Amino acid sequence: MRFDIVTLFPELFGPHLAHGITRRAYDSGQVQVRLWPLRDFAADAYRRVDDRPFGGGPGMVMLAEPLEAAIAAVRADRPDGAGRIPVVHFTPAGRRLDQALVAEFAAGAGALLLCGRYEGIDQRVVDRHVTHEISLGDYVISGGELAALVLLDAVARLQPGVLAAPSHEDDSFSGGLLEGPAYSRPERLDTPDGPVAVPAVLLSGHHAHIARWRREQSLALTARRRPDLIAAARAAGRLSAQDEAFLAQLAPGGRDGGPRL
Ligand code: SAM
Repeated sequence: MRFDIVTLFPELFGPHLAHGITRRAYDSGQVQVRLWPLRDFAADAYRRVDDRPFGGGPGMVMLAEPLEAAIAAVRADRPDGAGRIPVVHFTPAGRRLDQALVAEFAAGAGALLLCGRYEGIDQRVVDRHVTHEISLGDYVISGGELAALVLLDAVARLQPGVLAAPSHEDDSFSGGLLEGPAYSRPERLDTPDGPVAVPAVLLSGHHAHIARWRREQSLALTARRRPDLIAAARAAGRLSAQDEAFLAQLAPGGRDGGPRL
């Protein structure tokens, strides 16, 4: 798959592409990334890519003409570019990015990603080209590059062979629930408040008991923090009779004693 990214700040992508587990996906070519610096498509000698909004108001708007030229160049360069490739515009007004949408992109041929800056991009470009508007959440950040990196990372880690084991199958949201806690060495952590042990079942070597304990931790955490996910899992028939029995005996509205949400 191939992601073409139109951005004013291509240098923001390099460190991400070169580090961490997802690097395998980029190095192997499973996820190809091409960066298209928007300033290269500016029409004037000043390489101008933004201007004041018609009708007044604060801030600047990303100009339509450089964006149109960049999109045309991407389409000409992609083997499938003349077709209806996904064109993503990152905006707080978009659909909230979730694992289901990530899975759609992970199974696709890639996309053209438009990274906004300033007050955003000229709406005529959105109307003419954009197929998906995606938001990271209900807050405003300074540019679409971070959103593009989030999508890239989430897609790259789902590619076959990127993770040493297919651990993403246990990740939060993949099975519809939140993933429970994880522990590693030492078995006994000495702290000024006294020793803190690891749950004994994890040291038992009994794989079935460990799997059940992990499932119950996942159910309990999800029930406390995201009851909407429990309802969705129930509606999708993803909860077993054993799961339901476990959920039924949880204290209603129980506190989890964890970090403040
Ligand atoms: N004035 C815009 C608004 O209120 O919707 C926000 C513009 S923001 C300063 C600049 C760019 O950052 C946006 O064009 C968009 O590409 C990106 N951006 C900001 N918040 C985002 C979010 N929650 N999700 C995705 N992209 C976001």
